[in-house]
Amino acid sequence: MKPRSHHDADCLFCRWFGEDKAVETCGTMAAFKDGFPVTPGHLLIIPKRHVADGLDLNAQELQDSRTLIRRLIERIRLEDPSVSGFNIGINIGESAGQTVMHAHIHLIPRRDGDTDDPKGGVRGVIPGKRGY
Ligand code: AMP
Ligand code: ZN
Repeated sequence: MKPRSHHDADCLFCRWFGEDKAVETCGTMAAFKDGFPVTPGHLLIIPKRHVADGLDLNAQELQDSRTLIRRLIERIRLEDPSVSGFNIGINIGESAGQTVMHAHIHLIPRRDGDTDDPKGGVRGVIPGKRGY
């Protein structure tokens, strides 16, 4: 059995921490640019500790996430006044769409008109169910 470790050499996000690519950090957490952004500015908020499940983030990681997200939102709004909203979300488990098994929070900037009818937002995880 593989020993428990806070770093997994086979993990994409663990490698990012070794590559000095963070946009901004806060204690136990760091923000990185998503390589396939849903909208311009899409970031991933990732714990330094290798943990697969977003529900396993500890109290310090959650607190640092909140601080970091608030800072990033302030910065994004200043740098890009066209940003008028955000979607924040975690995919937990393959059934929910998680593809990288190192927990991460998506921070997706939204702009008026980036889609014809934004109503429903994250309800869109099931195509066709966003509107109601
Ligand atoms: P999730 O589907 O919630 O696990 O999200 C994984 C995120 O990682 C997706 O939004 C991808 O765009 C991003 N991603 C996956 N592989 C790469 C990569 N090689 N480089 C940059 N971003 C990636
Ligand atoms: Zn990892």
